[in-house]
Amino acid sequence: MKCGPRKWPPPDDKNWLDRLDEFDLIRRFFTRSPLRGQTRLGVGDDAALLVAPPGQALAASVDTLVSGVHFFPDVDPVSLGHKALAVNLSDLAAMGAEPAWVLLALTLPEADSDWLEGFARGWFELAESYKVDLVGGDTTRGPLAITVQALGWVPEGKALRRSAARPGDWICVSGPLGDAGLGLKMLQGEVAWRDESAIERLLRPVPRVALGVALRELAHACIDISDGLAQDLGHVLSASGAGAIVDWSALPVSAAVRDYMEDTGDWRLPLCGGDDYELCFTVSPQKSAELERSLQKNNLTWHRIGTIEQQQGLRLRKGKRLIDFSSAGYRHF
Ligand code: ADP
Ligand code: MG
Repeated sequence: MKCGPRKWPPPDDKNWLDRLDEFDLIRRFFTRSPLRGQTRLGVGDDAALLVAPPGQALAASVDTLVSGVHFFPDVDPVSLGHKALAVNLSDLAAMGAEPAWVLLALTLPEADSDWLEGFARGWFELAESYKVDLVGGDTTRGPLAITVQALGWVPEGKALRRSAARPGDWICVSGPLGDAGLGLKMLQGEVAWRDESAIERLLRPVPRVALGVALRELAHACIDISDGLAQDLGHVLSASGAGAIVDWSALPVSAAVRDYMEDTGDWRLPLCGGDDYELCFTVSPQKSAELERSLQKNNLTWHRIGTIEQQQGLRLRKGKRLIDFSSAGYRHF
């Protein structure tokens, strides 16, 4: 935080000051020993010092999660810490990058140490499993919002770009679709029953980092599915100047999503539900045998759901029907 008239913490807020000073907070909850030799200097100075391996491009991405928009204000802080990091690692995974560092800008309504302890636990559990160092950030007071910047490496020329899909490519996804959307409907009370694994998929997405790395040599285009398959695949199609046909019956869905679709007739959920954080990628059919071998060896799953075509637009085959599905998914504006 920069000074000027010091607005944070507000001078009249005894509680905040008594409970935790900004710098105590950073030290206590967000300062850990680095896991990587490349991290020469982490939290504590004006900037972190990070050493770049030769021949690698730096993949950089940033995402903000706003209370009430991206998560429920009363969500369990452990899940929130996990998710704030996971969605950013997912962006690196979608580029085929190996995550190395993250920065965390936190805006908090108050310095609640139980909440911070939970958030840090969820965060570092995931960070340690991917050997990702938290090397800096910012801490301010205001309505709860979390901004995370993620940095990672991908060998030069090997990144998976949205624009690289080619007609004839198979379209694949890494796992089941619609569970997170179903979990959201459950938490919103739109669906009267509960399925814990769908809720878990919403609250604790798994970034497909190993898959992204494995796809460097195999896939053409790749994207992570954060806003629903239809919309995210749509980004690949417009960036690539191509179209696609997707086979509805080939979409991988869980038993819970299947039950929901049968109960309600809402068969769009696996196409439009957000927050799944699976990868959607395209691969030349000539590479499919190699893809199968390579992913199986690493215990990674994939499902072919369609084909890239020259003709623009997204077409969905459902039974005997061919449905135009060119614009669907979550949009902020
Ligand atoms: P400055 O005034 O130079 O912006 P700050 O007071 O904001 O510095 O932060 C002090 C140090 O703590 C910096 O190294 C910064 O990167 C780090 N930092 C601040 N907030 C966080 C946070 N939420 N998580 C991790 N590091 C943080
Ligand atoms: Mg700062």
